[in-house]
Amino acid sequence: MKRILVNGAGGFIGGHLVKRLKREGFWVRGADLKEHEFAQTQADEFLLGDLCEQDFIQRVLEGIDEVYQLAADMGGAGYIFTGEHDANVMRNSATINLNTLEYGLRAGVKKFFYSSSACIYPEYNQRDPDNPKCSEESAYPAAPDSEYGWEKLFSERLYLSYSRNHKVDVRVARFHNIFGPEGTWRGGREKSPAALCRKVAEAQAGGEIEIWGDGRQTRSFLYVDECVDGVRRLTDSDFTGPVNVGSEEMVTINHLAELIMDIAGKKLSIRHIPGPLGVRGRNSDNALIREKLHWAPSQPLRKGLEMTYEWISRQVEAAKLEPALAAAR
Ligand code: NAD
Repeated sequence: MKRILVNGAGGFIGGHLVKRLKREGFWVRGADLKEHEFAQTQADEFLLGDLCEQDFIQRVLEGIDEVYQLAADMGGAGYIFTGEHDANVMRNSATINLNTLEYGLRAGVKKFFYSSSACIYPEYNQRDPDNPKCSEESAYPAAPDSEYGWEKLFSERLYLSYSRNHKVDVRVARFHNIFGPEGTWRGGREKSPAALCRKVAEAQAGGEIEIWGDGRQTRSFLYVDECVDGVRRLTDSDFTGPVNVGSEEMVTINHLAELIMDIAGKKLSIRHIPGPLGVRGRNSDNALIREKLHWAPSQPLRKGLEMTYEWISRQVEAAKLEPALAAAR
């Protein structure tokens, strides 16, 4: 049976990927700094430790045929665009990727999947919110708007270099804003769909929510099951990438908030406040993935938001009981 390692299995997408790989019948080892916060892992084995540490990564890679490398020091705009975490983001994520490839090669790993990001695309192509350009070849001349994006670009090139020089199989996907249940929804690392679901769930009817910026910035969002499906389609194919894994259903952040309010059945007003924003517009360009993998998202944004809102509103309700539970202890 194929033995698979998922780095970042205690995280959002990694946790969903482990479930999918287990459903497909693989033997799976997960590795992460932390256990999954919201669900029991379904991995056959789960190793807790720091993938920057050479002893740990060597242990993690023992007997592994394929690696899905999703571990990264990351978060939403509040984490990536303030500049406060830049050194950690670059150092930690680059070290994980260097270790994974070097020690993976030595351990005889045959295939590496690497999760890159839409954040690698140049800022100069994403100033017009109605016409952002994110086709794969437009990545160069490079000008990402965050150190997170620069590290992803470096690591993409690292995987492709190992493939060229050491004849290992690699696959590189550029994820575009993945969202869904069992992801970070509070604490500063959450992304906009989760943050907005939380704000709407917490608001009283007739109240207001805050949005960073004027809300006219555009993005597209992909539901996590669709993302995992795109990843499996890519790893089973003979196409290396880099390839976008995202949705082409572009919306403004104001529209995203309105969709969530509609799902929640709450009419709230929106207050725009200053905050870290990122590029003005971004949308996945799926021409390449359609052509190479015949893949496209199967459901509209609203459907994924319904499932996500349902999960986050349950977390919000449970969190209200936390002070009482803490006092009772
Ligand atoms: P996540 O933060 O939920 O998961 C990343 C996991 O990596 C975390 O559980 C974290 O503990 C672990 N990790 C970080 N440093 C580690 C270390 N030194 N040793 C061991 N584990 C470590 O993030 P996610 O949303 O699941 O993203 C997964 C991957 O996809 C990341 O590489 C991310 O950059 C990429 N990506 C995600 C999105 C998105 O919208 N979620 C978009 C583009 C790219």
